[in-house]
Amino acid sequence: MRIDVVSIFPAYLDALQLSLAGKAQSSGLLTIRTHDLRDFTRDKHRSVDDTPYGGGAGMVMKAEPWGEALDSLASEQAVIVVPTPSGAPFTQRTAERLSAESHLVFACGRYEGIDQRVIDEASDRWRVEEISLGDFVLNGGEVAALAMIEAIVRLVPGFMGNPASLVEESHGEDGLLEYPVYTKPASWRGRDVPEVLLSGNHAAIAAWRREQAVERTRRRRPDLLS
Ligand code: SAM
Repeated sequence: MRIDVVSIFPAYLDALQLSLAGKAQSSGLLTIRTHDLRDFTRDKHRSVDDTPYGGGAGMVMKAEPWGEALDSLASEQAVIVVPTPSGAPFTQRTAERLSAESHLVFACGRYEGIDQRVIDEASDRWRVEEISLGDFVLNGGEVAALAMIEAIVRLVPGFMGNPASLVEESHGEDGLLEYPVYTKPASWRGRDVPEVLLSGNHAAIAAWRREQAVERTRRRRPDLLS
């Protein structure tokens, strides 16, 4: 899978060189490239924003550098992902779907966002997804892109050292949150690990975990059960 990220602060994405995502790039499973939007400007001030038509506070990202960036980076099969608080909510299903793509281009907005014509024109040429990380407003799309990329790439076959780690996670097929987890020591500050987990009885452990997952989901996210 190839991922290109365009931003005026590409250093935000440096964390993708670490840990499993870094390893997956060294092994050739993933190619992640970050690009500075200012490299696609043609004026001497390398300007990427201007005042909004219709007035109002803030600045809007200019169409020209975004057009140049997408022309230069997006392959025919690319999906252009535009993080925006007005997009469709990002979920585990979105991550699963995008993990099957061969090329993603993330367009990280700043200020009041990107001139709408960029998204409209790109939609005529590529598949474009405007996606929100959640019902809150960030300063820019970089943190959203970072979170989305991490959720997507861990689902690419071969990414996880042990693919079994992806089974029984929160937001999986059963729609439940994960049960509580414990490790050694069996007793810590007067708190004991639930007996059943020490029993070696796999059926009893599976039943306890399922019960805990349902109870946790009912308490924290009843919307997931409906
Ligand atoms: N004026 C915009 C609005 O009200 O919808 C918010 C612009 S925000 C300050 C600047 C950029 O941050 C957006 O263009 C987008 O790239 C990113 N952003 C902010 N919140 C986000 C979220 N919840 N999900 C994804 N991207 C977000």
